[in-house]
Amino acid sequence: MRRRAVPRDGAAPVKASQSAEVDVWAPVTTEPEFGGVIGTAFLTVMIVLVVLLVTHKDWLSFPFLDGKLPDLLVDPVAYVRRAATPVGFGLPVAWWVMHAVLHIILPAEQVLGAELATGHRLPYRINGFSCVVASLAIAAAWHVCAINSWYDLTPGVSLHWLAEPGSVEQLAFGTLVLCVIKSTWLYAASFQGRRLLAAPGNSGSPSYDWFMGRELNPRVRLPLGLGVIDLKFFNELRPGMSAWLVLALAPVLKHLDATGALQAAAEGRVADGVRPEILAVAAMQLVYVLDSVLFERAILTTIDIIMDGFGFMLCAGDLAWVPFTFSLQTRFMVQAGTPLPAWQWAAALAVGTAGYLVFRLSNLQKDQFKRDMDAPAVAGLATIPPRDEPPRANGGRLLAGGWWAASRHINYLGDWLLGLSWCLLTGFQHPVPYLYAAYFAVLLVHRERRDDHKCAAKYGEHWAAYCRAVPCHIVPGLY
Ligand code: NDP
Repeated sequence: MRRRAVPRDGAAPVKASQSAEVDVWAPVTTEPEFGGVIGTAFLTVMIVLVVLLVTHKDWLSFPFLDGKLPDLLVDPVAYVRRAATPVGFGLPVAWWVMHAVLHIILPAEQVLGAELATGHRLPYRINGFSCVVASLAIAAAWHVCAINSWYDLTPGVSLHWLAEPGSVEQLAFGTLVLCVIKSTWLYAASFQGRRLLAAPGNSGSPSYDWFMGRELNPRVRLPLGLGVIDLKFFNELRPGMSAWLVLALAPVLKHLDATGALQAAAEGRVADGVRPEILAVAAMQLVYVLDSVLFERAILTTIDIIMDGFGFMLCAGDLAWVPFTFSLQTRFMVQAGTPLPAWQWAAALAVGTAGYLVFRLSNLQKDQFKRDMDAPAVAGLATIPPRDEPPRANGGRLLAGGWWAASRHINYLGDWLLGLSWCLLTGFQHPVPYLYAAYFAVLLVHRERRDDHKCAAKYGEHWAAYCRAVPCHIVPGLY
C-alpha cells in the first residue's frame, strides 16, 4: 500500500494514477452490512415509518391494536397535506444553521482524528459542549420572547407549541425529507473529484451505498475563510442531541406550567401535582446529552467516525431518529401518563444511576488507560499482553482488568440500563415508550459484533487472548 501526501480537508490530490493507490482511496465493500441491499432498503422504510408513527398526532393509539390505522398508512396524501408545513421544514433548517454558526464562532480546541488509510489525520473543532449549551440558551430566550410577544419572529411557535402533538409531526416530516435530500446530495457529491471512500459504503449498489454513506469524511469549506465543517462529525452529536433535549424538555415545561410549579418556586413554595418521575427523566436525559458533548472527542475513535461513511443511516439516525424517538418518554408522561408510586420511580431512578455510573466509569477507565497506562488509577490493572511483554499486534495493549474484566463491552450495559430506566419511569401502561430500550438492545448487540470484528483484525492474537480471558460480550455471566 502506498501512502500519499496529505491533501487539504480529505480531498484527493490532483494527480492520481497507480492502481495500488486507488485501493487506499476507494476500498470496496467486501462484506455488506445490515443484510445488504434488501436489508438496508427495509431499514430505510422502518426508520421513516417508525419516526412518522411515533410523532403522528394520534401516536398514542400506536400500535393500533384497536384496528384504527392512522391516515399516514391509509391516506398518505391527507397526512402529507397536514404534516408538510413551512415551519416543519424551516425550523430544522434554522436549528442546523444556528449550530453550524455556533460551531464556527465559539472557541474550540483543535484536535487530530485517528490516522486514515491514506496516512493522514484530519483536524476537528471540539466545542460541542459550549455549542449545545448556547443552543439551549437561545431556545429558552426564543421561548420567553414568544410567550411575552416581545419579538415574535415565528408567531405562536414557542416551547409550548413544541409540546403539542400536532407540532412534532410537522417537524419530524420536514426533518426526514431534509435527510433524504441531504443523503442524496452527499451520495452524488462523493463522485466528484477523488474522495476518500468508506469501505462499508462502496459496493457499487446505489441504494445500499446511499444508505451506508459512500464518502468517509465529507467536508464543506465555508466562504470568506470561515473554516471547514466536517459534516459527519458535526451532525453526530450537536443538532440532533440538542433537538432531542428541546423536544424532551418542552412537555416538562408544559407540566410545570400546568401544575403552577414555576410560579410556586418563585414564591418559595412547592406546588402540588408535580410528578417526580417526569423531572427524573428530564434530569437524566439532560445529564446524558451534556455528558456526550463534554466528552465529544471520544467519538473520534468510534466506528461511526473511523469506518462508516455519511449516508442516510447516520444522517437520519442523528437528525431524525435521535430527537424524535428518544424524546418519547416525557411526551408520553405529560400527554397520557399517570403518577407512579414512590417505590416505583425510586427503583427506576436507582437503575438509571447505576447504569450511568457503569457507563461513565468504564469509559473513563478505558480513556485513562489509552492516554497513559501507567497512570495511578489504572497502573495495577491487568493487560493483554502483560505489562512486561512487548505487544506483538498492531494495536498495542488491551485493558483486561477493572471494568473491562467484567465483559468486553461493559460500557454498553451501563448505557442500556440508563436508557431502560427512562422507559421504566413511564410505568407499564403503554409499550411505545419502551421503543428506546428495545431498539438500543438491538443496536448495541450489532455494534458489539462490528467492534469485535474490527478489534480482531486490529489486535489479532491479543484480541483472541482477551476474548478467552473475558468471554462475556456485554452482560457479565449472561451474554
Ligand atoms: P467503545 O467506546 O467501547 O469503543 C470500542 C473501541 O475501544 C474498540 O474498537 C477499541 O478501539 C477499544 N477497546 C475495546 N476494548 C478495549 C480494551 N479492553 N482495552 C483497550 N481498548 C479497547 O464503543 P463505541 O465506540 O461503539 O461506543 C461509544 C459509546 O457510545 C458507548 O458507551 C455506547 O454505549 C455509546 N453509544 C450510544 C448510542 C446511542 O444511540 N445512545 C449509539 C452508539 C453508541 P481501539 O482500536 O482504539 O483500541
